[in-house]
Amino acid sequence: MGGGDYEDNYSARGLITRFHPLLIIIMTRHLVKIPSLLMTTVSVGLSSLDSTLFAKAKPCPLCGGKPQPYDTKEKQYVMLSTPMGRKRITVRVRRFKCKECGTLIYAEEPFYPDTRLGSAVVDMAISLSRLHSYSHTANIMNALGIEIDRGTVRNYALSNLPIPQANFLYGMQLPNSFISLMTTEISNPKGSITSEDILAASGYPDLYKAPADGKGTSAEFQKQKKLRRKS
Ligand SMILES: [Zn+2]
Repeated sequence: MGGGDYEDNYSARGLITRFHPLLIIIMTRHLVKIPSLLMTTVSVGLSSLDSTLFAKAKPCPLCGGKPQPYDTKEKQYVMLSTPMGRKRITVRVRRFKCKECGTLIYAEEPFYPDTRLGSAVVDMAISLSRLHSYSHTANIMNALGIEIDRGTVRNYALSNLPIPQANFLYGMQLPNSFISLMTTEISNPKGSITSEDILAASGYPDLYKAPADGKGTSAEFQKQKKLRRKS
C-alpha cells in the first residue's frame, strides 16, 4: 500500500465516505438517533484541532504593555470516545509576560474566559440545552463521542456565556461555531485547519465579555425557560 492509499483512507473525506449508515444508539430513557455521518464529522473535525499551536499575542489587559514570549501550555480541548478508544484532543497555547508589569498573558485561544472545554463544545452544550434537559443534552453529546456529564452541561447552561447562533447539520441543530469548524476542516483540501481558522470559526471566544444586563446569555434563557414551564 502506497502513501496515497493511506491518505485516502484516513483523510476526512475518506472517513466520511466509509461510514455512512444511520446509527441508532439506545439510551436508558431516551432514544438518541445520531446519523453516523455526523458522528464521523464531529470526530474528524475535533481531531483536526489536536496539537494546534495558538501563538498570537494580545497586549497586556492591565497596562497595555508589550507581551514577550514566556512558555507554551498544553490545554485539553475535549476528550473524545471513539470506536477506536478514548482520544484526548489538546491545543497548545503560548503564554507571554508583559514587559511592563509582568502579567502572564495567554495568546488568543479557542476557549471562553474561565472555562475548561473548547468553546465549540461549550457552544454545543448551551445550544442543545435550549431544546433538551441537561441530562439529555449530555446523552446526545456522549452519543456524538464527546465526553461531558450532566453537571458540566448545567454549569455552562446557567453561565453568562452567550447563546450561540445555531443551524441544522445532518438534521441536528448545532451551533454555527461548531458547524463552521467542521466544514472548514472538511472543505480544506490539505486537511490542515490553522489556528486563525479555528479562532475565526469560533468567534474569538476568549475576547467575550458578558453583558452587564445579562441579555442574550444562556443563564437568562434558562431562567425564562423555567418560568415558562411553571406558568
Ligand atoms: Zn502589563
